[in-house]
Amino acid sequence: MSTLSTYWSRYRSVPIVYRIGTAFVLGSVFGLVVGQPATRLQPLGDLFVQLLSMLIIPIIVFTLLMGARRLTPSKLGRIGGQVVGLYAITSGLAVAFGLLVANVINPGENLQLTGGEAMEAEAPDIVDVILGIVPGNVIGSMAAGDILPVIFFVIVFGYALAVVEESDQVSEQVNEGIESFYNLAEAGAEAMFKIVWGVMEYGVLGVFALMAAVFGQAGVDAILPFALLILTLLLAVTLHIAVVHLGGLVMLLAGQSPIKFLRGGRDALVTALSIRSSSGTLPVTMSDADENLKIDESVYSFSLPLGATINMDGTALYQGVAAIFAANLVGVSLTLPEQFTVVVVAVLASIGAAGVPGTGLIMLTLVLTQLGLPLEVVGFVAGVDPILDRMRTMTNISGDLSVTTVVAKWNNAIDFTSGSWVGEPRGPAPADD
Ligand code: ASP
Repeated sequence: MSTLSTYWSRYRSVPIVYRIGTAFVLGSVFGLVVGQPATRLQPLGDLFVQLLSMLIIPIIVFTLLMGARRLTPSKLGRIGGQVVGLYAITSGLAVAFGLLVANVINPGENLQLTGGEAMEAEAPDIVDVILGIVPGNVIGSMAAGDILPVIFFVIVFGYALAVVEESDQVSEQVNEGIESFYNLAEAGAEAMFKIVWGVMEYGVLGVFALMAAVFGQAGVDAILPFALLILTLLLAVTLHIAVVHLGGLVMLLAGQSPIKFLRGGRDALVTALSIRSSSGTLPVTMSDADENLKIDESVYSFSLPLGATINMDGTALYQGVAAIFAANLVGVSLTLPEQFTVVVVAVLASIGAAGVPGTGLIMLTLVLTQLGLPLEVVGFVAGVDPILDRMRTMTNISGDLSVTTVVAKWNNAIDFTSGSWVGEPRGPAPADD
């Protein structure tokens, strides 16, 4: 028994990110070797995703309530402008990177378009997107997991609390009530972060199951023909993360070491790679921002949920790669104005799209329609999308965190003298806790 507990403590002393990383590799190999039967593990993986999803709305509400206390409308306007501006610029650059790399490699050149089914998608109406920010029914929005209207309501509510607290016409009782609200939010956020690390412990098994199911389903034969497409995307996202996120944002604008940044956000990056959902990863992204990157709630509680819905560098970049891939398949080449259209459509569509698995594939329909390319391409690549989606989602999260770091620095809302900036990041509770 004592040997068992020694093994257990040794296992727990390995940072969670390494354990999940190992599960990722072992699960993939297991899926490839075992094949179809490995898909039976899917429910174990779904449980991990569901456990994380359970935390999304509470963690947004608690942290945002704390953040909103320190936000005046002018500060919110400034931070909001900086966040949205950087999100838009980095998304545009991402599509350009995708187009650039794909133009060099031409990933679809030796392939035949076969067996693909056309899929339909409608462009999100920009008026609906903007109207959707205001919740008609805030409980309904929370229940549906709609992030933007929840952000809107909590900011308005948090700000109103701060205004009431500052007015000298309110009773002692009301002031005490407001204080308890903030205390509740602080306690709630702390509890949520604890739960996140507990869920990540289960994530080791969950990620093994998810990867086994994906590779068990796809199999080597289904993946091989798309190897060049996968490599093109891998190269493009690596370049984008290295040049724009790490080089431009973290090093140049925030003046920090990219290694320390990556160490601080690694749990979120690995989770994104594993579950392919920016929204589902949000609780981990927020924990990393708070506990490792030492960013203040006044910035991350707002910028990260917003980023999970409107900032998708990886998804936008993929549109560039896929557009060239589709053009290769039918043997045409895209003119410069057509490639510019891809940038505009991809950036706009990524703003209205939800951060859930497969969004990038559906968005591709819009891009192909715009270019007059066959919609069958969407069905053609659908089989390998679970692999491509991982890289997109990880890039999306890296974009959210790097922009948040820069905006936090601009607003004196980050502590570069602690957390992963000076040493090892905090992970789950130590083994003997
Ligand atoms: N799965 C991605 C995300 O959640 C979106 C996509 O399909 O590219 O961020």
